[in-house]
Amino acid sequence: PIAYVNGTFLPLSEARVSILDRGFQFADGVYEVIPVYGGRPFRLDAHLGRLERSLREIGMAPPMDREALGEQVRELIARNEGRDCQAYIQVTRGEAPRNHPFPDAVHPTVVMTCTPVTPVPEEWIREGVSVITAEDIRWARCDIKSIALLPNVMMRQKAAESGAFEALWVHQGQVMEGAASNIFAVFGGRAVTPPDGSRVLPGITRDVVLELAAEQDLPVASGEIDAADLPHAEEIWVTSSTKEVLPVTRLDGEPVGKGRPGPLFRTVLDAYRARIRELRAR
Ligand code: PLP
Repeated sequence: PIAYVNGTFLPLSEARVSILDRGFQFADGVYEVIPVYGGRPFRLDAHLGRLERSLREIGMAPPMDREALGEQVRELIARNEGRDCQAYIQVTRGEAPRNHPFPDAVHPTVVMTCTPVTPVPEEWIREGVSVITAEDIRWARCDIKSIALLPNVMMRQKAAESGAFEALWVHQGQVMEGAASNIFAVFGGRAVTPPDGSRVLPGITRDVVLELAAEQDLPVASGEIDAADLPHAEEIWVTSSTKEVLPVTRLDGEPVGKGRPGPLFRTVLDAYRARIRELRAR
């Protein structure tokens, strides 16, 4: 595999950053994961736009303009002969002697990788996945796609140990999102997903789902989800760039709805897959 470090493409095995990098020392950086289908990045502009927003929110300027960064992403995909893969971009505040305040003269570190992905197993679509709920122990700026992911790491490990696929964060009685996904829940035939806020990442897959639903007049909108209501949801789905849209059929060990992926999920997934097919065919 070929990686990218500060303007240079090189074998991943040779890619290095300093131990004084503020990403390593303080998790002082942000990232993006971009799904690639048939060599074509999906929603590249939205991902780069979100990256710029994350940078702005941590007081950093974009390392280059959007067009130029987009070109580097495409170049990375081409050099990896990437067909179905995920492009990862990480930007940190850079290398400097270890001291918390922003250093004066510092250059951002830009790192990119491209990793092949295997398609989501059909069994997950057919049977659904299981999730657990957990108290939201993250910070209050989850709208920033920060590389500081220790709470997410710990909770996904806990989920994995209990045989679950994902953990859903609950903050003050409200369901926020998954540890690495956004959530939709269906009540009375209508799907809701928590609106933008400081404890929800503005998910790009979530936005695609909302957009597709609007185009096809499906009952899907943003709205709060009470944790107390979640066990009564008819359907639950989680969305992310790498997992697309997945049905959740077990919540904290109990079946969701009829314990099978629901009809609204199927309609949304079909629409999502059609969008991906269009991208491949372009
Ligand atoms: N929420 C969190 C905390 C995430 O880490 C992710 C992505 O991995 C998502 C939501 C989904 O976002 P996207 O659809 O943009 O991949």
